[in-house]
Amino acid sequence: MPENNKPLRVLIVGAGIAGLATAISLTRVSDLDDLDIQLYEQAPELLEIGASIALSPNGMRTLEKLGVDNALTDEVGFRGPSGIPQIFRSIFMETLENESSHLCRHPQDVPNPRHHTTRFHRGHLHAALLKHVPQESIHLNKKMIRAEASDDGVELYFEDGTSAYGDILIGADGIKSRVRQSFNPDYKLFFSGKVFIRATFDASLVEGKIPGLPLDSAHWWGPEDNFFASRLGKHQYTTVGAYSDPRTREEIEKSITWDQKGDVEFFRNRYKNWHPIIKDLTELTPSVHLYPNYAGDALSTWVLASRVTLVGDAAHAHGGAFAAGGSLALDDALALGLSFKHVFKAFQPHTSVRPSEIRKVLELYNLTRKAHTDRLIQLVHGQITNKSTKPSTPEEAEAALVKRLRNRPNTDWLSEHDVEAAFAAAAQILDSNPASSQSDVSTSQGTNRITQTAAQLAQSKL
Ligand SMILES: Cc1cc2nc3c(=O)[nH]c(=O)nc-3n(C[C@H](O)[C@H](O)[C@H](O)COP(=O)(O)OP(=O)(O)OC[C@H]3O[C@@H](n4cnc5c(N)ncnc54)[C@H](O)[C@@H]3O)c2cc1C
Repeated sequence: MPENNKPLRVLIVGAGIAGLATAISLTRVSDLDDLDIQLYEQAPELLEIGASIALSPNGMRTLEKLGVDNALTDEVGFRGPSGIPQIFRSIFMETLENESSHLCRHPQDVPNPRHHTTRFHRGHLHAALLKHVPQESIHLNKKMIRAEASDDGVELYFEDGTSAYGDILIGADGIKSRVRQSFNPDYKLFFSGKVFIRATFDASLVEGKIPGLPLDSAHWWGPEDNFFASRLGKHQYTTVGAYSDPRTREEIEKSITWDQKGDVEFFRNRYKNWHPIIKDLTELTPSVHLYPNYAGDALSTWVLASRVTLVGDAAHAHGGAFAAGGSLALDDALALGLSFKHVFKAFQPHTSVRPSEIRKVLELYNLTRKAHTDRLIQLVHGQITNKSTKPSTPEEAEAALVKRLRNRPNTDWLSEHDVEAAFAAAAQILDSNPASSQSDVSTSQGTNRITQTAAQLAQSKL
């Protein structure tokens, strides 16, 4: 425990989108002077890696609340000219946005254009966040292999033989989180059966070269797989496809690593019979990378050993569904900053913090966020297990496709989620139940109330 006059030491494992946003939120939103925040990242350098990443209105609003204004410009991110997040098309190029209009937010529903769905190269969003985190607090080449927690504190052990000690541990180490694994050794991810094929390249390779190339982001749906294409910020362009792979998770892990270079000819062949625009896009795509898609079950709690928690993909292994990962990570970060502020503000300046207060912070965060992301995980599981039968004729395939599009779940509850309102409801519940066990509150009526409050708020904005 920190003694009087010693700052509260917060260890964050992972300096991806969630880790950086958490460091920013704990510094700015918590409004606490006495935090010593240290980030440990396995990569030897923070390079601009990855492909396209989308932020929905909730993520864009949260970026603004975190003060990351440099990521809100039209230079760094791309917003389609229509203001619609993406236009759905069948592979036969029939535009389906009218039929699926209830699935898409319309520009008038998101009044501030800065909050419209925005598409970035992941590296550019990451670089924008990085500008707000002191360099000296990020320790590179620090692959964490094990974490331990006791009544007195938390300890991290790194591959290089060193260790770090702190008061609170936040696992922001992505979908394969070792922090999560240290406290949930039986947790297992599964392979969803899909491998995504992604590319990002300079937009000049395709723009002005393909007749009818849509200006907005476009999602073409086929009977089995989809194809996505969009302009990104900083004059980048992305193409995304996928293929099914029947192998087990263990077999996939042995043969395909995340972000591994793929075979561009395979990508071109796979889409050669799709609409001519798609064919042209694949022909002009210079190279591709592979991303096997994993997902996992919802955890029973994010309060681990009373002083450890998780943010981002480490907390909710939803497998990137609905392109929600980036926005969820930002909302997690904001919720944690608000929880720190709410519980710890009474202890400033220089008062030692009791373990029960640390636990309360984490319970408040857990109550604010977990039910929301559990709902998404449930949806993802339903989609992975609900494999439809293969259509036997082209007409059947087209009909099945249109039905699938029409039945696509409405996800406004995700993109319009108001994390501050969910936090306020959670704080009220916890504060009004001081005598009961926090865990009881967070697993029973509390989560129901938060879910209902958040759903009502999203609904009231439509
Ligand atoms: C290289 C990379 C490329 C990606 N590309 C895309 C993309 O193109 N499109 C998309 O939608 N999403 C992509 N994602 C995922 C996306 O970033 C996340 O879904 C979302 O932003 C939530 O981020 P996160 O910080 O929780 O996880 P991540 O972005 O996965 O970040 C986790 C961080 O933790 C670090 N880390 C992991 N294990 C350890 C350890 N044991 N010790 C120390 N550090 C550790 C990782 O190196 C990484 O920096 C990518 C992630 C990565 C890591």
